[in-house]
Amino acid sequence: MKKRIAILGSTGSIGTQALDVIAQHADKYEVEALTANNNLDLLVKQAKQLQPNAVAIVNEALYLPLKEALADEPIKVFAGAKALNELVALPSVDLVVSSLVGFAGVAPTMAAIEAKKNIALANKETLVVAGDIISKLAIENRVNILPIDSEHSAIFQCIMGEIAPIEKVYLTASGGPFLNSDIAELPHVTKAQALKHPQWSMGAKVTIDSASMMNKGFEVIEARWLFNLKPEQIEVLVHPQSVVHSMVQFADGSIKAQLGAPDMRIPIALALSYPERLPLNTPRFNFIEKPNLTFQTPDTKKFRCLALAYEAMHRGGNAACALNAANEVAVAAFLDEKIGFNHIADIVEACLQRNDFIANPTLEDYLETDSRIRKVAKELVIANKNT
Ligand code: MG
Repeated sequence: MKKRIAILGSTGSIGTQALDVIAQHADKYEVEALTANNNLDLLVKQAKQLQPNAVAIVNEALYLPLKEALADEPIKVFAGAKALNELVALPSVDLVVSSLVGFAGVAPTMAAIEAKKNIALANKETLVVAGDIISKLAIENRVNILPIDSEHSAIFQCIMGEIAPIEKVYLTASGGPFLNSDIAELPHVTKAQALKHPQWSMGAKVTIDSASMMNKGFEVIEARWLFNLKPEQIEVLVHPQSVVHSMVQFADGSIKAQLGAPDMRIPIALALSYPERLPLNTPRFNFIEKPNLTFQTPDTKKFRCLALAYEAMHRGGNAACALNAANEVAVAAFLDEKIGFNHIADIVEACLQRNDFIANPTLEDYLETDSRIRKVAKELVIANKNT
């Protein structure tokens, strides 16, 4: 029987690549539900082509145009953020690809876990914000969370078949477009420069997070929850070639690494097909063409967001939720060219200081922290603009 897939965020970078993998293996997978925030045209095109059972558009103003565009198709049409929680719980769904961006992914991912659906997780912010609650919920519901993030997929692949515990993980980082920029240049870098990632093709938000290295900070927190690690078991290594996607060290000193050309379809396909591997037409890595693989320590003075993420992880409680909320607002403001690149770290740092710490937050506490810190961050964006 075909595996029936729901894709949250089907018009984004991960969503479209997931559909590419599914198209290469149409004998194994069927698309059951698709959702988009605002990209009506692409959602309509995907729905007509793939004939899912249901589609949802988060922007409610686009409900009628979507309904009209699909009037001749036997496809159920929904709108609004809450519709996602219902789509993921459809009895016909076997696996949910969670590829929303940011905090918006928390509620539908939780709804999918509660409905006992396995999760292919690209939305790292879900674990950054509420990793303690999500990982407990997954265990209670006997749900697998299969990582799509390339580093976490690498770690997952290194421990496939192992029963020995992890001693330590090395999370690799490309270093982003500003790896070799002077620290004094960073306040002046443009949006276009920050969006030019040297190795990976990704959505705008994660590309800016990569340029600031907040992405790596989020991934440290993500690794902590996915693999039940202590903060001191996770080390970041800058590896500009992005060939070693991450490594695991065991108690005997042996280190396993997962390598390959940087192509997100590899981790996406494994999350869909686990425990099997699918043949893919991805480019093959050639050792002789690229014989030099280098590693260095990240510069946390230059990339303050990485240090702030470590600080939030060590504080625990609702600190990483505040970190994420501040970062989402700051990155959106940077993409709107309202603030400079270094203001992202300034705003995140100020928000962490102004966060009312809660040691053992409930889901309601996380929701409240998120909306409160967003307000603080928006005020700081306005204050920054006026200076
Ligand atoms: Mg990654």
